[in-house]
Amino acid sequence: MTDIRKVTVLGTGVLGAQIAFQTAYSGFDVTAYDINEAALEKARKRFAGLVETYTKEVPGAAGGKAEATLSRLSLSADLAEAVADADLVIEAIPELLSLKQETYAKLGELAPQKTIFATNSSTLLPSAMKDSTGRPDRFLALHFANSIWKFNTAEVMGTADTDPAVFDTLVEFAGEIGMVPIPVRKEKAGYVLNSLLVPLLNAAAELAAGGYAEPHDVDKVWRIATGAPMGPFQIYDIIGLTTPYNILSHGNEHHQKLAAWLKENYIDKGKLGIATGEGFYTY
Ligand code: NAD
Repeated sequence: MTDIRKVTVLGTGVLGAQIAFQTAYSGFDVTAYDINEAALEKARKRFAGLVETYTKEVPGAAGGKAEATLSRLSLSADLAEAVADADLVIEAIPELLSLKQETYAKLGELAPQKTIFATNSSTLLPSAMKDSTGRPDRFLALHFANSIWKFNTAEVMGTADTDPAVFDTLVEFAGEIGMVPIPVRKEKAGYVLNSLLVPLLNAAAELAAGGYAEPHDVDKVWRIATGAPMGPFQIYDIIGLTTPYNILSHGNEHHQKLAAWLKENYIDKGKLGIATGEGFYTY
């Protein structure tokens, strides 16, 4: 068992709310911090929604366990108060390097020496933020997937400066909050999951955009020949087409052509995936 008891989550958006709720659900005292009262009001709604989702989808959560989670969750718009006694701060604020660096500089001054800082950043590398923390030995990435109550991986990735004992603590902590920890032994953009997934999704777009095979047939061969439950275009629909589009449009010329294909044929027609009722499939 780790020494972590009190956890503070910074940012209560899509992922921050899920991380805070899952951590409290697992028995930890959690403070969820966001920038103002309006953001905290949204967080209250997100937590209420998660009570319903857990009750329906998480075995054992019905019969009061999901509601009881709220008693271990407090909200704050005061950063100093939110981190005053935190053993661990998990940061899930917008993916902007300057914002993260500023936030870590403040945190480094406000949090006690014992506090470990972990970023949930998807694309920014922890080494780009480590100097702002003032404690690079107690800083690393803890990367969750969206819908963490069912897609429960937590990729743990340090920088060259992360204390190996802190790394091991976070691997253990990830297990304590119901995640399957995936230790990433060296810093890698995309961690493990996106290092595999992004090339797969790009290759699928290349096949369909190039007129080699229909999306449904690309999925069919992937499912049948590998035994995977879903093909890449089914995965596009789950993620929503906007995120892959944004990644591709920042890539090289070839990637930008794939982005244009996604935009013209799907995004501009409102086909963004499951969330809009249609993407590569109709729902
Ligand atoms: P989001 O936009 O839904 O939420 C961001 C939250 O941060 C908002 O509530 C906002 O008010 C708050 N915020 C803004 N400035 C802040 C500050 N200075 N201090 C504290 N809070 C602040 O974003 P998200 O999708 O939850 O992503 C957050 C982080 O998680 C990003 O680094 C992203 O890369 C990562 N992530 C996202 C996903 C995903 O599927 N959405 C998956 C894995 C990781």
